[in-house]
Amino acid sequence: MLTTAAARKAILDAMPAYEKKSVAVAASIGKVLRQSVVAERDQPPFDRVMMDGIAISYADVKKHTREFPIQATQAAGDKQTALEAGKAIEIMTGASLPNGADCIVPVERISKNNDIAALEAGYEAEQHQFIHPRGSDHREGTELLSPGKRISPMDIAIINSCGLTQVDTSTAPTIRVISTGNELIAAGKPVEPHQIRMSNGPAVIAMLQQHGYHDCEHDHIVDELDLLRERIGGHLEKADVLVLSGGVSMGKADYIPQVLGELGVEVVFHKISQRPGKPMWFGVGEKGQAVFALPGNPVSTLVCCRQYVVPALNAASGQHEHAPEFASLAQAFTFKPQLTCFLPVRLISSVGGPLLAMPVHTNTSGDFASLTGTDGYIELPLEEEYFSAGTAARLHRW
Ligand code: AMP
Ligand code: MG
Repeated sequence: MLTTAAARKAILDAMPAYEKKSVAVAASIGKVLRQSVVAERDQPPFDRVMMDGIAISYADVKKHTREFPIQATQAAGDKQTALEAGKAIEIMTGASLPNGADCIVPVERISKNNDIAALEAGYEAEQHQFIHPRGSDHREGTELLSPGKRISPMDIAIINSCGLTQVDTSTAPTIRVISTGNELIAAGKPVEPHQIRMSNGPAVIAMLQQHGYHDCEHDHIVDELDLLRERIGGHLEKADVLVLSGGVSMGKADYIPQVLGELGVEVVFHKISQRPGKPMWFGVGEKGQAVFALPGNPVSTLVCCRQYVVPALNAASGQHEHAPEFASLAQAFTFKPQLTCFLPVRLISSVGGPLLAMPVHTNTSGDFASLTGTDGYIELPLEEEYFSAGTAARLHRW
């Protein structure tokens, strides 16, 4: 049986690289950037005034001048003016510093009478104060964003500031999420006592969308060989990625590995030494499609989706991996099976203290309702059984 690390590597090795595509910047939020974004100009592009007030020359202040005739007004967006000796230019936040001025006095510190600005008694103006110097944030040509970053609202600001209207991003894979099982009944339809509400398919789609993958459609197929063959075969024709749930264990109706094999999907592995999600199956279709067959128990499905499907899609999209995150166990935990344990946790943070992970008990891997309110899960290595309070563990946020 594969270890979790070996399974992850086998998946990443099998993933293709998705193509890049130029999209309108407004439509790029949440997508993976596939180009460098470099500064169009110095930032700020001119010595930028940071206060509403007056612009004066510090040489005049040193000569003990306290009253300045107002020579002109310069607002943000106005062309740069030139200051005359002994005078002031009324200035607004965002304006470029008038030529000859090197000192801004905020409007709160002056009084105005007959177009003469007088400094408040005792106010000491300082040279260069309230001036944001040209190029002090960054210089023209500086790389502000590098390929592999998922575009955030802050990045949208940067891309616009560089004058771009289009940006290269990763194309979105076409994903089909398939729930299998005779017992499953979708919300909105009458359910009988022996049946189960279908929850995995919608939850997997929601998780993929939350991670930036929106081209997802769902299908439900009952456990019948011919039907599974026909419908999964159809999905393989259209999709880059299949995410199945259910039908991969040892039950008589667990036909998925067999059907996928018959459809030419080459098995990469079946089973990982982990709990939950041990029966997970992964393979590659004839056209390079990634096929993730996740166990149907809802906690297993969600953990496997987060642990394997999301990172695989991120890698194929060219997204840089995030630095691993760790949290400390808030209480001791014992786990006897010689398997990697993915333990759902609620995070507790305190000022100055470590990030604590409080285990949340799930009543078997069918108990998905207990996952609400969890922030993710921690990974406890299979070599150990007893984890004392304070043990640092790898954290995976949902
Ligand atoms: P399986 O992996 O098909 O053996 O299913 C394991 C358990 O998960 C069974 O109790 C199923 O009823 C349940 N299950 C499978 N698929 C889903 C689903 N889409 N939604 C909710 N429960 C499911
Ligand atoms: Mg089943």
